[in-house]
Amino acid sequence: MATIRFKALEASMSRTPRLVDAPSHKVSDYYGINVFDKKVMGEYMSKDIHSQVMQTIEKGKTIDRKITNSVASAMKAWAMEKQVTHYTHWFQPLTGTTAEKHDAFFEPLDDNEVIERFDGSQLAQQEPDASSLPNGGIRNTFEARGYTAWDPSSPAFIIGNTLCIPTIYISYTGEALDYKTPLLKALNVVDKAAVAVCQYFDKNVNKVNATLGWEQEYFLVDKALFTARPDLVLTGRTVFGHIPAKGQELDDHYFGSIPERAHAYMVELEIECMKLGIPLKTRHNEVAPNQYEFAPVFEEANLAVDHNQLLMDMMDKIARKHNFRVLLHEKPFANINGSGKHNNWSLSTNTGVNLLAPGKTPKSNLQFLTFLINTIKAVHDNERLLRASMATAGNEHRLGANEAPPAIISVFIGKELTHMLDELVSKVKDNKSLTAEEKTELKLNIGKIPEILLDNTDRNRTSPFAFTGNKFEFRAIGSSANCSSAMVVINSIVAKQLQEFKKDVDALIATGLKKDDAILIILKKYTISSKNIRFEGNGYGDAWIEEAEKRGLSHLRTAPAAIEEMASKQTLDLYENLGVMSHRETLARQEIAYELYTNLIRIESRVIGDLAKNHILPTTLRYQNELIKNVQGLKDILDSKDFKDLSSIQMDMIKGISKHVKIVQEATDKMIAERKRINKLEDPKQKANEYSDIVKPFFDKIRYSVDKLELMVDDEMWPLPKYRELLFNH
Ligand code: ADP
Ligand code: MG
Repeated sequence: MATIRFKALEASMSRTPRLVDAPSHKVSDYYGINVFDKKVMGEYMSKDIHSQVMQTIEKGKTIDRKITNSVASAMKAWAMEKQVTHYTHWFQPLTGTTAEKHDAFFEPLDDNEVIERFDGSQLAQQEPDASSLPNGGIRNTFEARGYTAWDPSSPAFIIGNTLCIPTIYISYTGEALDYKTPLLKALNVVDKAAVAVCQYFDKNVNKVNATLGWEQEYFLVDKALFTARPDLVLTGRTVFGHIPAKGQELDDHYFGSIPERAHAYMVELEIECMKLGIPLKTRHNEVAPNQYEFAPVFEEANLAVDHNQLLMDMMDKIARKHNFRVLLHEKPFANINGSGKHNNWSLSTNTGVNLLAPGKTPKSNLQFLTFLINTIKAVHDNERLLRASMATAGNEHRLGANEAPPAIISVFIGKELTHMLDELVSKVKDNKSLTAEEKTELKLNIGKIPEILLDNTDRNRTSPFAFTGNKFEFRAIGSSANCSSAMVVINSIVAKQLQEFKKDVDALIATGLKKDDAILIILKKYTISSKNIRFEGNGYGDAWIEEAEKRGLSHLRTAPAAIEEMASKQTLDLYENLGVMSHRETLARQEIAYELYTNLIRIESRVIGDLAKNHILPTTLRYQNELIKNVQGLKDILDSKDFKDLSSIQMDMIKGISKHVKIVQEATDKMIAERKRINKLEDPKQKANEYSDIVKPFFDKIRYSVDKLELMVDDEMWPLPKYRELLFNH
């Protein structure tokens, strides 16, 4: 075995688990101790100020300076008691990771003295010099400033010695440069639109929160082995590697017992997450070897998004302490399942009702049907945008690859609800009230929904957007994604749909129809017009691709094709009319997505070229030379008949190697030439498309031959840790 591989493997095998004890065996003793939450605020503020802050948070009002100062001084007092020395605005630029710039609390005074200072202005706003963060052309260099501004709806928290304050990040001209700004706006519009519709059913509803429960999949790889793979270090995925003799076919990892070292890592991570108030409740093995999942209890969407970002940061930090590296890439290993991030989404009212859960009375069930059908209609009308929300270079490997849903958006609701909707369509009349008897019968059936859902166990794992009893589960999102991308889309399109619904129902009521009749008539209309998006069958089958095409649903196979839909005319208007994003902001986001895609594929292409030319080919040729030497030696000692007979196998090996060496060499050269040509293009869209259509196909071609060479070349020489070593060693 090549020395580098041997050393890495030896290091990995000799590691003992790093065991860390929880501060107490009761999580309730330390849950949230590093969070400046409502309770802590109450302890550090006067009653009056505290109630004003609470109102601001709950009603989304703007905060005045005096209050900001009080909050800042309370935060400082609390943080300093916990040995905190620095603070940072914590934000989510469009790079996909989180960003921070730490400042110390202390400020110099005259005469060699300092004081600790942190006031309202430092809490409210900062101006990080972030001129190299992506902005999609929004920030010209002459106005390169960007501001971060406090988001009071997500509590500050402590990591190490730093107080982290969740913030939005906007340009000097007020345009969003981050994930959080449009999310907060989308959550606000869906709140207003949903409250207006809830008024048909319950006058006490005055606030609707979107809820999000994510499920985070990831791989754990030993740090020494990770470091010995330049592709993992630079791209997060293996660009070469033959599938091992044993892959995931035995399914023995899924839900199996968690290996000791991985378990120790999870325990420490969970302790740290609990201190940060992230309600991680579930951990288990996933389908592939070394693949795992974390899931928390669902929370209000903005907080859930922050918690997921924070979790991804913490996973990386803690994994390093355990001599692991976390892979959040959507497809780190070819032919082995990739990782996704399911987003479970629903809407919940201030009165404690989950609007996507059937209720106990016909009235509450009509409300449930209203939100169910409006969501389906919203997805139907905006399926392309929903597809665009998960279009990234990494996720391109999963969608349509028989492990994640296909690149076609559809909605699954289950047999029983399908039946219910069919009944609604057949019983309700167009523009006419139902008779008392008809209404009673329909209501009776609607009233039965909870029972039928209770034993509705059919769950379609192949659907990208599935109703799962009391929420929708969006399953096509990539494991490294910021959930905001999908959450902005789903909450915006549902908000717009609910606004339309309200208008349509009110128009019918104005013609003299009763409220219930008007609601039923409009729901029937929507059920019919959105029927095409509903699909109950096998989403992984080829038949569905054909069927979806007939139905006119989009099938956007590549990320650049989907990114185009991020800023279609319909989407530009949708966001602008809702006040979520201006045309300029939407277009900037699209440009950033194209650029990110191009950059990632370009880096992969460079890594492939480098590994092929500097690692794989030299090693292969060295091995081939040994074979040649062997043949020459045989020639020296054998007569020509024996030689011919005994050297034929080596000759075949030599030729076989040459065949693949030639392919790798030629394809790599061609790929590099294409890359150079494409890099000169100006248009981000054209560039991304050419990287996808022209550069990317070389990856598979080169990989195929490199993986064949891996099987031919002496294991002792092979320079890269193999899949067997990466996937089956802890
Ligand atoms: P799985 O999809 O793995 O079978 P479950 O169906 O048990 O898992 O639930 C998955 C996730 O759904 C959990 O993380 C949970 O927090 C989330 N969830 C449950 N109810 C809601 C809700 N009303 N809104 C958002 N997420 C929810
Ligand atoms: Mg799930």
